Amino acid sequence: MTTEATPPPPSQAQQPLRLAVLGAGPGGYAAAFHAADLGMNVTLIDDAPQPGGVCLYRGCIPSKALLHATHTIEEARAASAWGITFADPQIDLDGLRGWKQRVVDRLTRGLGALGRQRKIRYLQGRGQFTDPHTLHVRTADELTSVTFDYAIVATGSLPAMPQALRLDSPLVMDSTAALELEDVPETLLIVGGGYIGLELGSVYATLGSRVTVVEMTTGLLPGADRDLVEPLEKRLRGQFHEILLNTRVAALEEHAGGIRATLASTELDNVQRDFSKVLVAVGRVPNSRNLGLEHTGVQVTSRGFVTVDHMLRTAEPSIYAIGDIAGEPMLAHKATHEGRVAVEAMLGQPSIFDPTGIPAVVFTDPEIAWCGLTESQARERGIEIEITKFPWAASGRTITMGRNDGVTKLIVEPGTQRILGIGIAGTGAGELIGEAVVALEMGTRVQDLHLTIHAHPTLSETLMEAASLYYNQSPHYIARTSRAAE
Ligand code: NAD
Repeated sequence: MTTEATPPPPSQAQQPLRLAVLGAGPGGYAAAFHAADLGMNVTLIDDAPQPGGVCLYRGCIPSKALLHATHTIEEARAASAWGITFADPQIDLDGLRGWKQRVVDRLTRGLGALGRQRKIRYLQGRGQFTDPHTLHVRTADELTSVTFDYAIVATGSLPAMPQALRLDSPLVMDSTAALELEDVPETLLIVGGGYIGLELGSVYATLGSRVTVVEMTTGLLPGADRDLVEPLEKRLRGQFHEILLNTRVAALEEHAGGIRATLASTELDNVQRDFSKVLVAVGRVPNSRNLGLEHTGVQVTSRGFVTVDHMLRTAEPSIYAIGDIAGEPMLAHKATHEGRVAVEAMLGQPSIFDPTGIPAVVFTDPEIAWCGLTESQARERGIEIEITKFPWAASGRTITMGRNDGVTKLIVEPGTQRILGIGIAGTGAGELIGEAVVALEMGTRVQDLHLTIHAHPTLSETLMEAASLYYNQSPHYIARTSRAAE
């Protein structure tokens, strides 16, 4: 956590420290902005025309714009059960792409302006380290040398494309290509039932594709607790054509104008299926190649992550690393926070990266969000926990929305009754998790949440109700066992 700021060292007050930030995603631009606000002389380098990185150009933001649009279609369809029937939607793909692009342009242009207001020098080009204090940046028309006192590597990650699935065909997409929304394929195979597969699978299914998801592990979203995944899986089984678990896509080949996939599982022995298009979403890999890191003392793991300590320092004293390249989880908000810590640490401030919980949100419908300890982590690590779960079927608000498929769950430390983790599945879970993160960081006990008045009728009440249920004092649900509030 960031601790109280101390003034920068005197030398810095006379001569601003020169900081070069390589990569202008949510880690890099946030670090650059913070450093400029603290008086550093900052150069921000990225090959895109404006700051924003994967998140804004081809990740979080465009995917959320599309998910919002398709959610509107689903809501309109659901309204027929409430006596309001809309005609089938007319989907103008150019219009939808145009709207998504306007969202991206507005945000990236805004970041560019915020950088200029802070007097940050923005270099559009690819940077490579030539020594521990120099970067060479190849811009459109020249090779520029940038010397720095400190640098931050924030070059993010790239979609993983395993050899077996690598096919030089426009019909095989990674997440970047899928977000282009070139067309709505009749049939779409999604390899990987993780964040990207399920978010983009939902978009394409609502737009009209027959979606098949193939996931090699025993369940969708392997990192999430099963009871949180359950409401989502139930809904997706209705929306998607097929969800194949314990199944691997062993090979892809072009065939008859589409893609033929070879599927392997204990039941399916190299069965072949044909699809119009394929989206490969099997994870991301850190973008640490071709950065010239070999000209510095920076250490890179066999998986390509830059090794950092709790202040985001690499083994090279002048170089820090943040975001996806510095390790899991590969989440924009983790990168942003790390950027702040790195800048403060290089200024000698007592700042370390030590969060109690980093929220994870899967923006499907229903959404799934969690932070802190999960039930499965506790079981794996042999940590004794108690669980209290409030089913959304008992919430007035969810019923008014026609969406009572969800659950809010608290992971509790026995004895102290401190909340160690919170998981939520349901509409708006991604917003609700904000309260959970504050609760965790504040060391909240179940009783604190139980005794905090939540507005009625809201989804946030489910957090209070889950806490009340721990003592069997939820007005709307009766637990089997009860405990005394301490
Ligand atoms: P992921 O790790 O979430 O999921 C990949 C899935 O693919 C896993 O479930 C894995 O078991 C499966 N898989 C791997 N190889 C396979 C094969 N050959 N056949 C079938 N299944 C296979 O990765 P992702 O969905 O590509 O997303 C990458 C990262 O991007 C995420 O880990 C996350 O950090 C980030 N992301 C976050 C959000 C968000 O915050 N909402 C959204 C999108 C992406």
